[in-house]
Amino acid sequence: MDKILPEFEKVAKRQKIAARESDKTLHDLVAQLKQARARLAASASSSSSSSVSASTAPPPPPTQDAGASADASSPLPPVDIAVVVAELQKIVKDAMAKLQEPHKEVQAGLYKYGRAIEKRFKTDVNALWDPDVLRERSDLLDLAIAQTFVREGRFALHDTFQREASLAPSAADDRALFEGLFRMLGALKAGDLEPAWQWVAQHSDALAALQSTLAYRLVSWQYMTLLQAGAWEPAVTYARQQFPRFRDAHGDAIQRLMGAVLYRDRLAQSPYADLVGPERLAQITETLTRDFCRLHQLPTESLLETAAMVGTLALPTLIKMASVLKPGVAWTQTSEMSVELPLINRVRYHSTFVCPVSKEQGTDANPPMLLTCGHMIARESLNRISKGQMNSKIKCTYCPGETIASQAQQLYF
Ligand SMILES: [Zn+2]
Repeated sequence: MDKILPEFEKVAKRQKIAARESDKTLHDLVAQLKQARARLAASASSSSSSSVSASTAPPPPPTQDAGASADASSPLPPVDIAVVVAELQKIVKDAMAKLQEPHKEVQAGLYKYGRAIEKRFKTDVNALWDPDVLRERSDLLDLAIAQTFVREGRFALHDTFQREASLAPSAADDRALFEGLFRMLGALKAGDLEPAWQWVAQHSDALAALQSTLAYRLVSWQYMTLLQAGAWEPAVTYARQQFPRFRDAHGDAIQRLMGAVLYRDRLAQSPYADLVGPERLAQITETLTRDFCRLHQLPTESLLETAAMVGTLALPTLIKMASVLKPGVAWTQTSEMSVELPLINRVRYHSTFVCPVSKEQGTDANPPMLLTCGHMIARESLNRISKGQMNSKIKCTYCPGETIASQAQQLYF
């Protein structure tokens, strides 16, 4: 980034200067054109009594006679249209040249900026990407896009896309489901907790099984809303009715909420300001969305979002792998190799273990074993390397660490 940023700043500065200069040039040009038009108009009106009429004046240059008669009938100096037009042509030509000058500098700056980016990001990602991978199954991509629109609550866009991509109406069965979610979210934003409460009541058992904090968050939001509106007595009554059932799980937080009563007149400036901030509503929205998806056994993110995130996280590793593979060798044609991808927890749906020695996926019969250095190999590989001698030292395949075979621990996936 050290080279890219200065180049960007340079080109941004040049662009500003160019815009300012262009504005001035255009402004001057317009002023000159107006002036010329005024001169021509004045000349035309003064010579309207002559043989050359005003409407036909511009194209044919006036004859010497017409000029002479205009001269005679008007106190204004005579205007030779041909001369004025020639002058205007020169003015416009000069202005065009002047306009181009600063843009040349912007172009040069842009070129340098592009070079700086190319130098910094040498990797050709295209080498990793197979443009034909979805050629036969472009419907899968369409489905993923349609599903993303549903997940984002953009239902009208989804419907248009579904129609234009000729997707079967059943393609996104989640539409009605998520319309319900977005109705609740919309009401929440407008300060109406009722739809969310109804949903919580309908699914109270399932939400309890998920250890959902949604009901508690809704109650505390309602309480703070009352307090903020100055209705502190109803707020305390509400708290007495509602908070006891959440005491076990949220005791400390409830104590803090009750402390906010002391600052009820100036909550926003108090140590309790965070309890009334917009981030509280954002938390409720997030909790509701997450619990809603968990309840319906759907991932919180859309397939497309997850795929993009996993792809982005995996990219550096894949780039490294591509540089190791021989050029032109397709990934699937080489013998398989296990590669660790640094994924974040949110996009890990289930764990898999592939032994780096045998390249086999872990099973109950052949589970992963943790070596003392922190790396893992399958039990069969461990037995093979240690030749079945539990007190023999084995060397890790990833690092120089050594482990006594009997000290390796089984891991449960
Ligand atoms: Zn190791």
